[in-house]
Amino acid sequence: MTPDTSGLHHVTAIASDPTANAAFYVDTLGLRFVKRTVNHDDPGTYHFYFGDGEGTPGTNLTFFPWGEDGRDGEFGAGQTQTVAYLIPDDSVQYWTERLADADVAVERAERFGATVLGFDDPDGIRIELVADPDAEGTGTPWADGPVPVEHQLRGFYGVTLAVADVDATARVLEGVLGYEHEATAPDSAGTDSRGEGATSTSADRHRYRSAAGGPASIVDLVETDRSRGRMGAGTVHHVAFAAESVDEQEAYREAYADIGLNATEPIDREYFHAIYCREPGGVLFEIATTGPGFAVDESVDELGSRLTLPDRLEDQRERIESQLPAFELPESHD
Ligand code: ZN
Repeated sequence: MTPDTSGLHHVTAIASDPTANAAFYVDTLGLRFVKRTVNHDDPGTYHFYFGDGEGTPGTNLTFFPWGEDGRDGEFGAGQTQTVAYLIPDDSVQYWTERLADADVAVERAERFGATVLGFDDPDGIRIELVADPDAEGTGTPWADGPVPVEHQLRGFYGVTLAVADVDATARVLEGVLGYEHEATAPDSAGTDSRGEGATSTSADRHRYRSAAGGPASIVDLVETDRSRGRMGAGTVHHVAFAAESVDEQEAYREAYADIGLNATEPIDREYFHAIYCREPGGVLFEIATTGPGFAVDESVDELGSRLTLPDRLEDQRERIESQLPAFELPESHD
């Protein structure tokens, strides 16, 4: 018997310019810059974490900004189509105006009874703000942020994955992670802005929800006849689901094995322990522990205030800092 995940832990994507990336998520969307470190597997690249006031699991969108010369990705099958945050039901007007003021083009749609505002980040990653009156939020507001507390993003709502075969991906959601099919409905407009008007995703959206329920527990699958996507700036690298403990994580590893898939051994990511497995549709799934969290190497007040490095890289700090791309902190960073 495998545990049911509570839902998303974090989502990691690839950006180009680090300054534009941080400015968008902090100054425009009002997320807190909760951790500034490097890609532990590639210390020449930053790893940014944007989340709620404390970097609560289920609120964190993280980026590897590859720089202006980094390769652009191509959206396609096996990729995350949209990343959705929950907003309060009466914040739709606020966000419509705030995004317009920031010259962000927004498409408004209704989906499963909720209002959805869709727009692209500076690298073309599709972000959605979902005002679902029935959804539960998570996290702690960022009191010093540029967005009034009552309108702040309430953590993830869910992700939409574009896959070649919905059933193959659903087998992992249901068989390993404890998701259940909730509804299937014709997909409404405004959900696939990629590809210059050529909407090649099929007409149906299949909604899955973690049986454990709670915040950030939605995964929507849409079938696409696009060819496999290519990872690069403007695409999502992986989607991480939450495990409450390393024991629970091990149970997921066994559940993967039971359906013939191999997950990696647990990897220590400083702030959580992670295992990875690419699901049959091509999306890289991570399962990350909710602890120890971001306050292991700086206090909650100081989150994101300096470049943090894992102990094993600390003695190379000078060289690492000198090789990182030019970067200016966002205006609203505290
Ligand atoms: Zn991750």
